[in-house]
Amino acid sequence: MNIREPDHLNLLCDMGDLTAIVAGDSDIETFLERTTILVAKHLKAHVCSIYLAGSRSGDLVLNATRGLNPDAVRQVRMKPGEGLVGKCFSTGKILREGNARKTPGFKYFDNAGEDPFNSFLCVPIQRGMTRIGVLVVQHEEIDHFTLFDERTLKTAVTQLAGAIENARLLMGLSPEENGQPPKGGTQQGLPVFIKGKSDSSGAAYGMVRSSKKNRKAMLSEPDTSGTAYTMEDFKAALDKTLKDLKDLQEKFASSLPESASLIFTAHFMMLKDKNFTGKMESLIAAGESPARAIQRMAGKYIGIFSASPHAYLREKAVDVEDLGIRLLSNLKASQEASAPGKGSIVVAEDLYPSDVLKLTADGIKGIILAGGGVTSHVTILARSLDLPLIIADDPVLLDLPDDTTLLMDTAQGNIYINPDRKTLDLFSAQRDAEKKSVPHDILDETFTRDNEKIRLLANINLLSELRLAKELKSEGIGLYRTEFPFLIRPGFPSEDEQYLIYKKLFDQVRPHHTTTIRTLDAGGEKTLSYAGLAKEPNPALGLRSIRFALKYREVFDTQVRAILRAALGKQNIRLMFPLISSIDEFLDAKQVVMDCARDLDREGIAHNADIDIGMMIELPAVLSTIDEFAGLADFFAVGTNDFIQYMVGADRANKLVTDHYIPHHPAVCRGIRTIAKAAQAKGIDVSVCGEMAHDPVHIPFLIGAGISTLSVDPKFIPKTQQVVMNLSLKAAREYARELLAQSSIRGTAKVMAAQSWK
Ligand code: PEP
Ligand code: MG
Repeated sequence: MNIREPDHLNLLCDMGDLTAIVAGDSDIETFLERTTILVAKHLKAHVCSIYLAGSRSGDLVLNATRGLNPDAVRQVRMKPGEGLVGKCFSTGKILREGNARKTPGFKYFDNAGEDPFNSFLCVPIQRGMTRIGVLVVQHEEIDHFTLFDERTLKTAVTQLAGAIENARLLMGLSPEENGQPPKGGTQQGLPVFIKGKSDSSGAAYGMVRSSKKNRKAMLSEPDTSGTAYTMEDFKAALDKTLKDLKDLQEKFASSLPESASLIFTAHFMMLKDKNFTGKMESLIAAGESPARAIQRMAGKYIGIFSASPHAYLREKAVDVEDLGIRLLSNLKASQEASAPGKGSIVVAEDLYPSDVLKLTADGIKGIILAGGGVTSHVTILARSLDLPLIIADDPVLLDLPDDTTLLMDTAQGNIYINPDRKTLDLFSAQRDAEKKSVPHDILDETFTRDNEKIRLLANINLLSELRLAKELKSEGIGLYRTEFPFLIRPGFPSEDEQYLIYKKLFDQVRPHHTTTIRTLDAGGEKTLSYAGLAKEPNPALGLRSIRFALKYREVFDTQVRAILRAALGKQNIRLMFPLISSIDEFLDAKQVVMDCARDLDREGIAHNADIDIGMMIELPAVLSTIDEFAGLADFFAVGTNDFIQYMVGADRANKLVTDHYIPHHPAVCRGIRTIAKAAQAKGIDVSVCGEMAHDPVHIPFLIGAGISTLSVDPKFIPKTQQVVMNLSLKAAREYARELLAQSSIRGTAKVMAAQSWK
């Protein structure tokens, strides 16, 4: 068989790049044309064509081709069901024919120049429940396309579907109706569409409320208020600020425990600080105007903090800024524009985390950040609040008039400006179809076809994700990443703050379900800017994870104490350490837990140390002593994201080495089998909680290799369950044996390509 896997990987990467650059100014024709060129090149096909269904007539129209007669574009058309192309479209099934011209139903278009092509592979382009068109590749040689080509093309087309649908929405693509090239363009000088990035979910449609003004300027602009405000006004502003913050904190205390309690700690302290607000009062008493007094004191502390060599102090300048602006706004409340209304979309250059909470409480529908330097905290907050947020560094956004309507589609990162009726209709039809495609018949437990139980757990980062995990019937939490409370604040959260968060987590998971909490995995790609660490030349190999925790014992002890206290009265709590590299390190970390339990005992503080202690397997270094580890740990959790990265030496986040980051590398496969065998021999649970665990291509191998627990992001649970239910353990074992017998990437790729399940 002709195996061309490196090229297939390149195709997928190129598709990713291509879809990422479909922006407002690139026209659909160019995009489709580039797609056909790329697909033809990587699949070594003589022809690649894209047929799209007209939004009114439903006819399939040749929209782009590489290899057929270019004059046939927009001329060749067929009804769904007509010819092989129409059949693929109407059935929604992939068609792979070794000799298409001999296949019943083949339809020949003499103006297209199809005569010499025998092999034919046609894949439907589908978005949610909506079928948009088909992509066809052809080759002169009989039986040219393989099953592997078929799978790769299917994946590539899945990537493409969003961009094509997107382009149809954008440009009202219905070329066959008017025979004209699609319109791109602008409306009254405004673009139709702006492309951004989004890490949140959902969509929003509403009127713009722009926060054009650089709010930071309030702190330095000349004070023209003179004697307009008095000491009473200042005190009222102080009270109002305190009340606003308390209200916000209360409002979000239960839904967002990680954020609400932590965001405002510094604000409350400063509001009562003699050297800050106390000094403002003294200045006003001495004749300074209240506005100027606020500006002076805020300016002074911003200056001091910003000049600090310590990153965590520099970040405190942000809190002072936020507070200074709040005080000034409350002082001048009567002169300020009204707050963004319910249902509006806020466009701002940047926002503080506290602003995001405030705006959410005001009932806004979404946020667009149009400035550079957006902090990850704001993004994470928006995600946990289910608030659509798009980051688009385009100055046009800040100048949009306030009556502009916007449509935000976070799935694509798209912002449609004054979308027309047709765009809105297409968009809502697409959303309805997506909703319909969510399976509703999820089972409480997951078994293979031959009745082998596979436990499906959830990975969560935020407590707010628990809801979906429960709704989708996860059997517990396989990985709770504790980093968020450490990221949201410019300082380490206290023991009590952490205790409240962990208790909430343990309280919310059903008692008979497992909750696996991972100790702080700081460093690497999860940098704590305030930790005061020197910038590392190679953070992935630096002071990260358990190494950081063991070096900064106070930080580690605080967290472990909070976990043990929160576990009081609970069962099925599991604690695990990330990035363990040696038996010594594991024993040291375990000793910390025992020391913390002993200290809590001595201090008479109630806790529960009767919990399972396990480890993440992420470093190849543990493989040679894995049997001994299995005798010491209560469970293993394989973090394949890192395990692959370290096994093959390819950065998990570096696009340049995506081709080298190969989950089916024999070393990775054999490593996983070794881990599973060691766990089975000692009777301990072994789960996989990296991205591999939800990938249908890899699930059969994992199960066949002896992994009986998969932990995945909640949204992947239904799909993962379906894949597991469709396979038998017996066949999965046979398949894993075949894969493990291979010593090369080509070999494993070949076995994968031949696997019969989808
Ligand atoms: C992993 O490495 O696979 C893992 C689950 O941990 P994280 O992605 O948080 O590093
Ligand atoms: Mg990891």
